[in-house]
Amino acid sequence: MQAISTWTRACASACAFAGPRFRAVIPLKRLPKTRALIDAPLHSLSSTTASRPSSTFTMSAVSYLQIVAGSCDTGPSAFIFTDDRRYLFNTGEGIQRFCMEHKIRLKQVTDIFFTKSSWECIGGLPGMLLTMQDMYQVSHPVALHAPPHLSTMLEGTKTFMQHRSSLYREFREYTDPVSEFDDGRLRMKIFTIHARDQTPALHPHVISALKQQKYMEQAAPPVSQNIGAEFDHHATHEPHTLPAKKVRLQPKQDQSPGQQQQQQQQQQQPSAGNGHDAARQRTPSPISSRLESASPPPHPAPQLTLVPPTAEETLAAAESTRDTALAYVGSLVNPRPGKFNVQKAKAAGVPKGPLWGQLGKGNEVTLDDGRVVKPEDVLDPVDPLPHFAIVHIPTRAALEATIARSELFDAFRAMPSSMPKVVHFTSQALAQTDAYAQLLQQFGPNVTHVFVDPQHNPHATTISSTKLQYMLQTIGPTPFAMAPVPSTVPELTVPHALPDNCSVVSAQPLYRVFLSKRRDGLLTDATTCLPIVSPEECRETVMALPDMQRLLPQQNEHAQAPPPTTAPPTTTTPAKAPPTTTTTATATASGTGGDSLAALRPDERVLHFMGTGSAVPSQLRNVTGMLLTRGIWVDSDGATTVNKDVAASMLLDCGEGSLSQLQRKFGAEHMPAVLRSLRLVHISHMHADHHLGLTRVLARRREAFAAVGVDDPPPVVVVAPHFLWLFMRYTAHLSCATAVFLDARWTRFAHWQLPRFVPPHVKDAYARAMAGMGLRALATPAVKHCFAAYGLVLDFDDGYRFAWSGDTRPCKSMVGAGKGADVLVHEATFEDGLEDQAVQKNHSTTSDAVTVAQQMGAKMLILTHFSQRYPQIPVLDAKSREHTAFGFDLMSVVLRRAKELTAMTPAIDHMFTALKPEEEEEEGDDDGDIETIGGADGNAKGKGEKKGKDKVKAKVKGNGKGGGVKVDDVARGRKQQKQKQPKESKQTAAVKEVRTDADQQQAS
Ligand SMILES: [Zn+2]
Repeated sequence: MQAISTWTRACASACAFAGPRFRAVIPLKRLPKTRALIDAPLHSLSSTTASRPSSTFTMSAVSYLQIVAGSCDTGPSAFIFTDDRRYLFNTGEGIQRFCMEHKIRLKQVTDIFFTKSSWECIGGLPGMLLTMQDMYQVSHPVALHAPPHLSTMLEGTKTFMQHRSSLYREFREYTDPVSEFDDGRLRMKIFTIHARDQTPALHPHVISALKQQKYMEQAAPPVSQNIGAEFDHHATHEPHTLPAKKVRLQPKQDQSPGQQQQQQQQQQQPSAGNGHDAARQRTPSPISSRLESASPPPHPAPQLTLVPPTAEETLAAAESTRDTALAYVGSLVNPRPGKFNVQKAKAAGVPKGPLWGQLGKGNEVTLDDGRVVKPEDVLDPVDPLPHFAIVHIPTRAALEATIARSELFDAFRAMPSSMPKVVHFTSQALAQTDAYAQLLQQFGPNVTHVFVDPQHNPHATTISSTKLQYMLQTIGPTPFAMAPVPSTVPELTVPHALPDNCSVVSAQPLYRVFLSKRRDGLLTDATTCLPIVSPEECRETVMALPDMQRLLPQQNEHAQAPPPTTAPPTTTTPAKAPPTTTTTATATASGTGGDSLAALRPDERVLHFMGTGSAVPSQLRNVTGMLLTRGIWVDSDGATTVNKDVAASMLLDCGEGSLSQLQRKFGAEHMPAVLRSLRLVHISHMHADHHLGLTRVLARRREAFAAVGVDDPPPVVVVAPHFLWLFMRYTAHLSCATAVFLDARWTRFAHWQLPRFVPPHVKDAYARAMAGMGLRALATPAVKHCFAAYGLVLDFDDGYRFAWSGDTRPCKSMVGAGKGADVLVHEATFEDGLEDQAVQKNHSTTSDAVTVAQQMGAKMLILTHFSQRYPQIPVLDAKSREHTAFGFDLMSVVLRRAKELTAMTPAIDHMFTALKPEEEEEEGDDDGDIETIGGADGNAKGKGEKKGKDKVKAKVKGNGKGGGVKVDDVARGRKQQKQKQPKESKQTAAVKEVRTDADQQQAS
């Protein structure tokens, strides 16, 4: 379900994040204000258990633990819902998108607990914290509870969001064997479990690679970093209310006095001679002077002292992260007073009347004779709520370590409730071992064991996006192809004899474990099914649109395809290239049937869009990321081809969730080969929506090499702002990957040589990566967006030129660098008419992008990075449309034939126009309702009345018949209210509202 409202000016970020909830167009005056920039450290480390004052409350709603994620899209994650609090366990990449898709509100999260500090569990945290602060304006930020080294990653986030304060209210890393958490609602014992893994967590090559990165420190001010507030992706989408203040953090305490002295000297003389000669002369001008000419910062940049971990510290962090997990054992506190016992009241001498009522409500009363009677004297004891445990067991060593912690099982068995539950974050393979049977025995009888294995669950949770993809496939089978989505989820089996009365469940996302009685008085859990999207239904919906047949571009595809060529690849694979595999039978481009891809060259260049939205992920558009591949593509039937002799790829930005998007495009089976092909990465700037997915991609790439016996894969070359390197130093223990970095300042012009101080191994790696991609030259022109922002221009061996703007205002440097580009991919965050916004936030409008393309003489323009609240296709005059295409997530473009995309535009436009949405959905929906999709029984709904209303409404809309694309609304039972459209401007009036969700499809 996606809300696509009008083009009327609204808050990009709020609308984008809230997706369906914010169907309403939000007037300007309601823009969330950027939080005051407070002159204080980013976070305070606290040694006390986090707790908020507990107010009196009654638990009117049903409480439950819900598996909120745990598929190929996200890491393992769970929520505990009570009527006024949400406790979240783990925040993997994609958690925001998942919660948005399934109507789970992050706003009321009070505490986030982590089972591990691995990227799979924490990768979505920075984005989520930013969103909670900006979109939800959470006044009481969350408390974070984690194993050691979450702080290492958080420290690194200062490289792009250091000016933020109060992103969380408390932070605690647990190192004691057992700790306690009690906030009056939830009581838990937290066990720290250390696995004893004898192998080093970092390959020696990674350690030496880290040590060899000294040149990066040499190249830029190593200690005192100028990091502006405009480094923050949200900041460029919102007006600033206060200027940034200077923040100076203390150097690390473990530094020697000598180091500190050295730093001070460097701070005083940031550009003091490093002895660089001519090579140094060729390096770009200092950042400060570049900013003056290109993009004066709107605020004085705060000062920040960051000292990244050493290689040794990274190794220690990697081992700690791999080996340490937190296990949780606890239960919710039952706030309901027990039943009023008349006998006891009489025995206590309480006269019938108002005093009984007071006692029944849980209040003390004083009798006439002065005696005080407490509620517990006259009330029956309450039933204990079901207790639960959450264990995270990723490895054999972790399994053995957990089994050895007898206190954990003692604590679990000692709890009084009768129907305990255990949630296992583990793998199918481990769950089937004999050792795991031992673990299950330890928990004792009568336990429901709920298994969550993200790797085992290939089911995509991005339902709306999948629907849109199928619909677009009808129009462009090849550009919108993606790997087939499995229609069934394999059951997890545990082939052991279980203790008495135990059961095992393989939980899909949204599975609910009840922690208080359901409305029907039962405690049995709710199996939930994500709707399986039916490709046929989606296609039928599109084909049924009037005039659609006529507009389909298929006939044109063949007509415009160039003649087949069997020319050998223009470059050879570097001698040192790692073994790559062809994972499909097709080793050449021929034999793809009637598909237009039959004409592709073996080393064809294809651009795959992973995300085409800005700021925060939405259901239909993930945040920015592209993969430019050579010799890799997906056929219209979803089959991936990897031409092993020439396969190479390059990432152009990599926002959170990019890896999941890659997997959706190429399929889990082919992902390793695609990742092994990765040679180059370009990160345009340090906004969180452009780089937070890189750590996961690099980690998976390393695993993909390890899977074929390569422990020392060739390094990925990352060309990025200096600060990315700094951030990656703080997350090196999570990616454990070898990468070499080039400051994008050094590659601003294609004719520049790398500075002399760049070590030979880096230059070699760069040369190999360039050759692998078939590149003759690479340039990263400075663009006008935020501090240290760069576009990209690639010159291929055959003279082909590709350009990517990054985020930017139209700027001469980009136009000059990309002259005559064959394809220009340009951001178009704002629609025309919002020039003021575009100028203020240093973004481009649709017309800006078209103008740049014209000035550049680009043969073809592809627009991307759309504000998440806009319709899928911006308004553009017919003439411009001849050379312009529009980016969609999971769209692939054969670069040489990019022009063919324009043939699809009328049909896509028609589709969005014809599938006219309902007008608006109520914004905010602040009733604290627990809303989840697919709840089989609806018991968790606090408001049965509302549910009934929704049913009627769903019927009226005609989508109550079930089936792949239309089950959601009924199951969700969500509130929908029409709201008046704000007045549209002249331009916007011309734009039709569009939506692509089930309702639209039905409406058609
Ligand atoms: Zn940006």
